[in-house]
Amino acid sequence: MARTPVSPALTRSMQRYSLFSLLRHGLSHHRHWQQAWRKPKLRPHYDVIIIGAGGHGLATAHYLALNHGITNVAVLERGWLGGGNIARNTVTIRSNYLRDESIPFYVKSVSLFESLTKELNINLMYSKRTMVDVVQTSSKMRDLRRRMLNMANHGSSYEPISIEELRRRIPSLTGGGPDARLPIVGAMVHTDAAVCRHDAVAWGFARSADHMGVELHENTPVQALLRGDDGRIAGVRTPFGVIQAPTVAVVVSGHTTTLTETVGLRLPVKTINLSAFVSEPIKPVIDVIVNCPDVGVYLSQSDRGELIIGGANDPGQSFRRDIKQHVFEDAVAAMLDLFPTFGRLKLMRQWGGTLDIAHDASPIVSGTSIPGLYVSAGWWGGFKAVPAGGYTLAHLIATGEPHPLIRPFSLDRFRHLDYVLESGTTTAR
Ligand SMILES: Cc1cc2nc3c(=O)[nH]c(=O)nc-3n(C[C@H](O)[C@H](O)[C@H](O)COP(=O)(O)OP(=O)(O)OC[C@H]3O[C@@H](n4cnc5c(N)ncnc54)[C@H](O)[C@@H]3O)c2cc1C
Repeated sequence: MARTPVSPALTRSMQRYSLFSLLRHGLSHHRHWQQAWRKPKLRPHYDVIIIGAGGHGLATAHYLALNHGITNVAVLERGWLGGGNIARNTVTIRSNYLRDESIPFYVKSVSLFESLTKELNINLMYSKRTMVDVVQTSSKMRDLRRRMLNMANHGSSYEPISIEELRRRIPSLTGGGPDARLPIVGAMVHTDAAVCRHDAVAWGFARSADHMGVELHENTPVQALLRGDDGRIAGVRTPFGVIQAPTVAVVVSGHTTTLTETVGLRLPVKTINLSAFVSEPIKPVIDVIVNCPDVGVYLSQSDRGELIIGGANDPGQSFRRDIKQHVFEDAVAAMLDLFPTFGRLKLMRQWGGTLDIAHDASPIVSGTSIPGLYVSAGWWGGFKAVPAGGYTLAHLIATGEPHPLIRPFSLDRFRHLDYVLESGTTTAR
């Protein structure tokens, strides 16, 4: 795509965060830190508009500027930056997927995460934790072994461990014995899995994109997409007027169809609610991410000591951002079957988010039938995908060609029934 050079006045050098700068600013009572990002005035025209300042929108802006030199870009966010699902997830990063099309994409994303703290110069609190799958049915065990064999083809780690080893690694896992309703039959270990501070991912990409000249506009909801007489995308309508751009990317997790339907574009996604909750902080009891795929619950312990617990989604279509009582009860009951002592914990907070998902539970990173309009949607476990999602969407926008890692995730797959079926690798129901 054509680029408009951005005036050097719109870029600035990025202040380095370091122990030395922390000490230096301490001397002046931390009053002189550079603003993390500017608050520029909205202009009437850009080369690219990205709708949504979540993880994927901000990562796309970062990689557009960094890898392709495209900086005449506005990111329009209806609320505050990083206040959507990027702030609402349970921070699990992993690449244990099933399909040949998916594994390389998530392997790339995990590898990008590993160097992100350095690249963005912000402490993401990235912590390689290992994920342990607690398996309670032989059909799931067969499914995971199949995954293991395919993951080995793509350089991702997954291996079985014995039940004795499982109980040694997770001493608080006292349920699931031979007399239990669903006894544990085995376990799998994914050593590449990690956790990381989700807000910092949004802040890091935002700060970096801003310093390369991208404009970030909070409190700027897009009300509708606009098409020109030639049928191409022409810009967006906001409460502050029409903003024109020949390229628009819709990156609004959970609200994609609300926007695309304003130009008559229907997408094969539905919006659902996924929720999570945390316990009071306790002493360290679990140093891995525990996933129990048969009963649909997973948990890890945060650096503050809280247990972060997630379950399956609410099966109905929904835009709610809280948690439904029966979904909550199902997750708690499943957890207590395996970790009965956690019944004494107080729960501190619960929340939910809106995700839009496709039939095959795989993402959509794609151009559309409207020239100049791109979508990044269908992110079920999309936090782990933020770096690779932004990297590949930026490539698609800049070159007009899908990056090989996202070629299988175009909208065309629904026309040709080339589904990338991954529902077994999520907590979907
Ligand atoms: C409870 C829960 C647990 C999860 N756990 C995990 C996990 O452990 N691991 C994992 O990988 N993933 C997880 N996820 C999924 C992950 O959070 C999402 O897939 C991912 O964050 C989505 O991408 P995003 O960050 O760009 O979305 P968001 O942060 O939601 O960004 C979209 C942005 O678009 C904005 N927007 C919407 N409409 C408009 C409009 N009209 N105009 C302007 N702006 C608009 C929103 O305000 C929002 O800020 C979880 C999600 C939830 C809800």
